[in-house]
This record gives sequence, C-alpha cells and structure tokens, in this order.
Amino acid sequence: MGDLYLDIIIKNGTLVDTTGCYQANLAIKDGKINAIFRGNKGLDATRVINADKKLIFPGIIDPHVHFQLQDLGKIISTDTFASGTQAAACGGVTTIIDFANQTRGISPLKDFNERKKNADPQVAIDYSLHLSKTDMEYLDEIPTLISEGVTSFKFFTTYSWRNLDLNDAELLHFFREVRKYRGMVMGHCENDAMVLNYRNELIQEGKTEPIFHAHSRPHIVEEEAIQRVLLFAKKTGVKLHLAHITTKQGSDSLFHAKQHGLKVSGETCPHYLLLNERAYKGPDGYLNLMSPPLRHAKDQQALMRRIKDGTIDQIVTDHCEFSRASKGNGKLPFHQILNGIPGIETSLPLMHDLLVNKQKLTYPQLISLMSTRPASIFGLYPQKGSLMVGTDADIVIFDPNLKKTISPEILHYSIDWNPFMDLKVRGWPIMTILRGHMLCESGKFIGPQNEGKFLKRSISQLNGFNYER
Ligand SMILES: [Zn+2]
Repeated sequence: MGDLYLDIIIKNGTLVDTTGCYQANLAIKDGKINAIFRGNKGLDATRVINADKKLIFPGIIDPHVHFQLQDLGKIISTDTFASGTQAAACGGVTTIIDFANQTRGISPLKDFNERKKNADPQVAIDYSLHLSKTDMEYLDEIPTLISEGVTSFKFFTTYSWRNLDLNDAELLHFFREVRKYRGMVMGHCENDAMVLNYRNELIQEGKTEPIFHAHSRPHIVEEEAIQRVLLFAKKTGVKLHLAHITTKQGSDSLFHAKQHGLKVSGETCPHYLLLNERAYKGPDGYLNLMSPPLRHAKDQQALMRRIKDGTIDQIVTDHCEFSRASKGNGKLPFHQILNGIPGIETSLPLMHDLLVNKQKLTYPQLISLMSTRPASIFGLYPQKGSLMVGTDADIVIFDPNLKKTISPEILHYSIDWNPFMDLKVRGWPIMTILRGHMLCESGKFIGPQNEGKFLKRSISQLNGFNYER
C-alpha cells in the first residue's frame, strides 16, 4: 500500500460482519473501503479515528420506511426526506428503501418519477424505492420500472377504503406478471373483509377507543392473508416478501413455506417485539396506532423464536411519523386515526439491547438482520450490507457500553412523543459514515445534507434462489 494517502482510517475497532467479529483497522478512500489490515503499515489519512472498545458495523439498511408520506398530493407525515434521513443517519442507518405509491388509474412510472424527484435533492443517505401497485392498469410498465432499478412491487390485501387493495384474481394476475419479468412482490397481508366486518361491529357497539383498533384486526386477519398469498406465490412461482409479520401464526406460516422450498422471506419490526396491546391504553394510546396492530407477549416470544431460528430474515421499522395533531389529539375514533409510528433512529440501539444484550444473539446475527439480509433480499449486496474491500464505505461506529434513555430530546425527529419513551438501552451509535462522508458524530448530524443517492437495484437473490432462465 506504500505511501497511499487515505481519507479516513478507523483504528483498533472490532469489525462485525456475518462471518464474525475481528480486530482490524479499516481504511477509506474515495468513498470506498480501501483496505482492512492489522498493524500500522505506515499509512496516513486526513482523519484517524481511534475506535478502541468500539464495534464497526456496515451501515444499517432499513428497507421499509415511509418518509414525507403523501395523500392526494399533500404531505401528511411530520417528516420530510431531509429531516427523516438525517434522523436515520443519527441512528446508524445509511440506506433506506421507501415507496412510490401508484395512484389508481395513474401510470406507476409517473408516480415513481415524482417520488424520486421529491427525494433526490433532500436525502442525506442513500435510498431506493419499492413500487406499490394498486390496480391492474399499466402492468406493461413493470419491465421499465425494473430497468430503472425498482425490482420489488408492493401489494396490499386490505385498505379497500383507501383504494389500495388488490382482490384475489388481481393478486394472481399481478404475481404472474412480476414473475414473468423476474421481479419480486412484497405484501401487506391482512384480510380486508374481516377488518371491515370487525370494525363495523365494534363501532356499532360504541367501542371506538384506541384499544379496539387491535380488536378490529385480530390474529386471524393476518394469518388468513399470509396463508393465501403464500398459496398464490406457490402457484405463480413469484418471489414473495412478507412485510411486518406480527403474529405467531404468521411467523409459523413463513417457517413452513420456507420448509417447502418457497422463494419467500419476511420481516418484523422493533415495536412488535417491544410493545404490546397495553400501549393502546392511557391518554397517549392513540399515538401508537399502526397496522397490523401490536399483539401479546406470546406473539413476541414466537417472533423471537423465529428470529433465532432464521425464519424471520430482517428487522425493519415501517417508520411513519405523525404529530399529535395529525393523529387527532386523542379525540378520534380508532378507525379515523392515521396509522404509523416513528422508529428509524432507535431501531439499532433498541435491537442491540434486546437481541444481543438480553436475548444473547451474536453481533453477526444482529448485522445479518439489520444490514446484510436486507441488502441481499432487495438486490443491494455487496455494494451495501458488507465490510468488503471495494464496496461503499457505509460504516457505523457503535459504542456497546454507552447508556441512553429514549426520549424525544435525544432524537432528531420533529415530534414531541416517542413510542419507546423512557426505555433504557446500553449501546448507541456514535458515528455514521456514508461513502466516506462523516454524517453524524456524538449524537449530532454534521454531514453534508443531501449527499444521498438513488440506488438502482438489480434482480435480487432471495434465500439463495434465482429464477431459472
Ligand atoms: Zn409500511
């Protein structure tokens, strides 16, 4: 390596990837990981960081977020791509995948281009987009979208009242089309008719407090929809990713589908592991509404088992940030409250504390769940999700002993509440680097504000499966 002059050298840290943990120095030049080495080697750099007793992770990848959420052209979430990605960076996240949502009857390519145009000048970290398909029009745009780097297509089995759902015949047709062009589908699985039926019953009985949101979407709502879309995936041979699994039954269905060789993967979120139905009680209960809803202790234990046995592939946040006012200040019946909670800035420290400190998973398992698997499932690996020489220098330096108590004051969201309020954790990210740019240091965003780039994704490998030609 001789007299090579580097941008950053991170010395004395413990590097973590899916193969293990090892002591080494890591050098960055021109936005890439340039070398991983032991000893001194006489190298010099603009900045040398001593990471003694710290962990070096590949940047966290959150492939399920909703920043700057729009409804009928109006922004309804509290964050923008700018504020959201800066908060993400402070939480150790260097790549997100957000969504372009097709408006029924409108070209999805147009929705994609608009979403990208909104995000491009604002993003502090790298991003990509899934495309949510809401009707059977413009299916011929699927190959164009894939060539633009959008290889995953979201569908909803519910939200008929918001014109988002596909019926069974449409789902089968849609799966077949995506399969034809070698893309993958990603599903929000809840049975629409059941949700509407339970909801109407509860409303007629005058049961409209936040807790009845959970009662309106009981376990069978998720279980039925997951089993149905798994059957459709088996029939059509499409690669299927199950979004935000919340129940024992849902995670067991994923396990059995994998056992039978289906090309399927799945995810859960920190809130389904850390919070339960009780979070809907009390004066702030209305803030914690999201769909699917929070569950019970036995679901949390089942999800944990399915994380440990590798059935659940990844942890995502489904981040979606709303103010108290936009959630109705506690005055609305449950079915009129906007669904979604923030989570992107706290997911790494919360999952480190739960999965590693408490549940005794290994660091490589944590990094697999939060970086490497998401990158490989969605077609970003090894550019993202690894610490290999030659890949993007997206790095988190993590202090496993730094203690924090979750509160809005230490976070970078634009809201005054947090679903994980007062939770104590040990372990916090102290530096975040995106392609060699220092974005965050000691809890402050210091980096360039719009260094993020759109990532064109390739047709991914899912559980090692590729479509045969
Ligand atoms: Zn979502």
